[in-house]
Amino acid sequence: MAEKCEVFPKPRRALLLVNPCGGIGIAKTISDTVVKPMLQHSGLIVKEQYTEYRRHAVDIAYKVDLEDVDTLLVVSGDGVLHEVINGLLSRPDWDRARQLPIGLVPAGSGNAIATSLGTRNTFVATLAAIRGRTAKLDIFSAAQRDRPRIFSMLLFSWGMMADADIESDKYRWLGGLRFEIAGFIRMIRLRRYPGKVYVLPPKHTQVSTITPPDSPDHTQSEPTIQYASLLDRSSDEPPKPWRMLPDMPFFSMLLSINFPCVSEDVFFSSAIRFNDGIMRLWYSCETRFWRILLPFVLDQKNGKLVERGLMQYTECGGILIVPGVEGKPDDVTTHEIVDANAVNSLSAQKLGIYQRPGVFDIDGEAMPTARTLIEIHPGFMNLIAP
Ligand code: ADP
Ligand code: MG
Repeated sequence: MAEKCEVFPKPRRALLLVNPCGGIGIAKTISDTVVKPMLQHSGLIVKEQYTEYRRHAVDIAYKVDLEDVDTLLVVSGDGVLHEVINGLLSRPDWDRARQLPIGLVPAGSGNAIATSLGTRNTFVATLAAIRGRTAKLDIFSAAQRDRPRIFSMLLFSWGMMADADIESDKYRWLGGLRFEIAGFIRMIRLRRYPGKVYVLPPKHTQVSTITPPDSPDHTQSEPTIQYASLLDRSSDEPPKPWRMLPDMPFFSMLLSINFPCVSEDVFFSSAIRFNDGIMRLWYSCETRFWRILLPFVLDQKNGKLVERGLMQYTECGGILIVPGVEGKPDDVTTHEIVDANAVNSLSAQKLGIYQRPGVFDIDGEAMPTARTLIEIHPGFMNLIAP
């Protein structure tokens, strides 16, 4: 008897999230003229949704029916993908949601992930989505006391680069140029960012102990947080094997990044892999602006920023950041910083240098400056990659 066979596989269903305000505002055009038609011609069933407000993608990803969607594709910058992972990982069924393939067709200002993956070109990115091949993606979670945890897939930064990124948000009509102008201003008006940073050696990295969905003792509580007690403000010094980074009372910049490119124009290091389970941290206490400025002018595109010895480097399995000056409150919200800045610039005039806690930057989005624990969740999600 002839065997019954499935002749046609079920068509893949893609949800396109288009941010009309991303980058210089051409995401809708990119979607209408290239992405949607190419996906549809390739036999995918496409549902398109525009993001209507900031963090709308968090709400969409939180509610998306996983029975209804096989791939979630963002047409915007890295910020909307950041929102998508936060929406998916805060769901009660996060363990299932994290397996949904997510992808990016770049239409933002920085486009660090697409540049790193070699999918900066719209056609290449769309072809990768059609092909549907995925790679495991390391995810990072940043926890602060009494605040919801924030998940990240690209970068965490504090200091000069973070301020340049966040402060330039109002100039987004300039596209990628906004980072260069704001970066230049921040470099020549270099600030000091007081605080302490502790790191956990890489071999102590948390191993994801997720039980499979069919296991009877399966609980879908939350992606685990192993060192939560370190957020307790009474325990300033974390125990061994945590160690403090060189005993400096301040930093000028600090960056933990998961992809080789920080933006379209800043190539950091080809040693970075987005799925090797390692956190990489670069930091500098340099306060002479020309020592920071020159490597960026000369080397930002060729990956030699790191080689010039401008920044120190360490690999780690966890990071604890305690911002603020000893004896002063370390918990400053972004809003308060605006006022603190005015006060600080007065004392800065006296000191001849800016000194303030700054703002934390997580995947290009601002985060309150407070005691923060960052952990890695190796290979936690599936990213569409060529
Ligand atoms: P870019 O790389 O240009 O920063 P992103 O993808 O990071 O692009 O998106 C920038 C911001 O736009 C995100 O913070 C997102 O929440 C916000 N956003 C999304 N949709 C809208 C909208 N309709 N109006 C205003 N902001 C929006
Ligand atoms: Mg952004």
